[in-house]
Amino acid sequence: MVVALAEHGNASQPKPARIVVACMDRRLSDYLDRTYNDGSTLFIRNAGPDASRLTATISGLVNKYKDGDRKIEIVVVAHSDCGACSIAYSALKEGKIFDDIIKSSVVEGYKSLSFSTRNELESKNPGLQIDRIYASLPGSGSISVLPDFVKISSLKVPEHLSGEHELIIARPSDVKYAEMMQAAKAPDFNTYIVQAATLKEILPDTFAAVVILGARRISFVAVNAESAEAVADDMKSLRKQQFIKDRMDPDKDIALVRVLR
Ligand SMILES: [Zn+2]
Repeated sequence: MVVALAEHGNASQPKPARIVVACMDRRLSDYLDRTYNDGSTLFIRNAGPDASRLTATISGLVNKYKDGDRKIEIVVVAHSDCGACSIAYSALKEGKIFDDIIKSSVVEGYKSLSFSTRNELESKNPGLQIDRIYASLPGSGSISVLPDFVKISSLKVPEHLSGEHELIIARPSDVKYAEMMQAAKAPDFNTYIVQAATLKEILPDTFAAVVILGARRISFVAVNAESAEAVADDMKSLRKQQFIKDRMDPDKDIALVRVLR
């Protein structure tokens, strides 16, 4: 079910052996394109990242690519100055109150972790996610899960970005973010990107992007004809969400974009 939803821009590419699970942060897309997008890597993203909320997508992709003795590598990309860690820290250490959907997802995801500072939480995040991925893939001896912790200060992020934040929602794919953002006319470094096999898995992250991070436009990106209809259905169901209706014009501010390959 889930595996059928992954998208390949180019069907002639060899099957990917690498899956990147990264935070949705708007500043990471350029880094992910440059560091990992070799045309045969699939990308999945949510807030954190939090692998516990992506187990269906991850195991679906792993099952699809488990192919004889072929090795599969999963890379967890987390980073400094992370909004998800900041939300979890404020809720768990400072008693800040968040909406139920954020409490039961982003905050809950870090409840089991022992930490005293925000930096400590961030630095323990990749290890926590790696443990979760291994735990969700029992008997997967040929899979290695590796950490990549990105210092935001090491990236070339423009210092004074103006303009509003945006959100791209896509299925797991090997398509470059630069290409997605160009097709969606969404600004680089100002666009959060969430990717999973189902909208349900990334609904809390979409809520966070719109309600907490202030994204004012959402583009659903479909990269092949077969999945465009399913992506359009996702768009229809998101338009009905109350938090969207409260903050956006669902018809004007949410659109379907096709990246033709
Ligand atoms: Zn983050």
